[in-house]
Amino acid sequence: GRKFFVGGNWKCNGTTEEVKKIVSVLNEGQVPSSDVVEVVVSPPFVFLGLVKSSLRPGFHVAAQNCWVKKGGAFTGEISAEMLVNLEIPWVILGHSERRLILNELNEFVGDKVAYALSQGLKVIACVGETLEQREAGSTMEVVAAQTKAIADRVSSWSNIVLAYEPVWAIGTGKVATPAQAQEVHFELRKWLLANTSPEIAAATRIIYGGSVNGANCKELAAQPDVDGFLVGGASLKPEFIDIIKSAE
Ligand code: 13P
Repeated sequence: GRKFFVGGNWKCNGTTEEVKKIVSVLNEGQVPSSDVVEVVVSPPFVFLGLVKSSLRPGFHVAAQNCWVKKGGAFTGEISAEMLVNLEIPWVILGHSERRLILNELNEFVGDKVAYALSQGLKVIACVGETLEQREAGSTMEVVAAQTKAIADRVSSWSNIVLAYEPVWAIGTGKVATPAQAQEVHFELRKWLLANTSPEIAAATRIIYGGSVNGANCKELAAQPDVDGFLVGGASLKPEFIDIIKSAE
């Protein structure tokens, strides 16, 4: 079986005091065992050390981005090697905010995923369509192209979690219905089956992101191809514990 995966993407939020508060809520929450759910939180780079050193055992940290290749003269960037050096196990790559606001193209994201994996990082790779693309009927075409740019560059998927995050659902309060999420997750798994291998298609966790909260997580988690969540806003609140609990 695919172990349920819950990621908390804190985005560009938090002060030292707020980070300490969130960590203490996480550390005190009653959650299922790590055999049942894998929990990874992703603070901004500057707080990674603080969170990593104060977070309960069994919960892990992710960076929200890293550079596309070996570090060097790339002012403002953080390399995969640095994350490995600091024992940061995970990185989120291809988030729609980076694709759309920072103009990261599919090929660039694919290169980042391949390089991060080559350095030993585990990757939460994000895909998802805009409202305009959904309304034009091109959802699958868009997410397949985003996934293909990754599949073309990697052979093993054992260190990749694929996050389906429809852009229209991110930060909008407009969560995908369980049926809408299941449909795309099922199609993505079918795409993996056709384009990678039966083993990869069966084993790869496909998680949903976009306005997930404590109230809607249960029904989404019950969908057969929804293997967890990538949570934004609600990951900064105590209800993140309820979302972790939806694993069981
Ligand atoms: P929200 O949960 O705030 O909609 O954000 C989702 C997201 O982008 C997680 O990466």
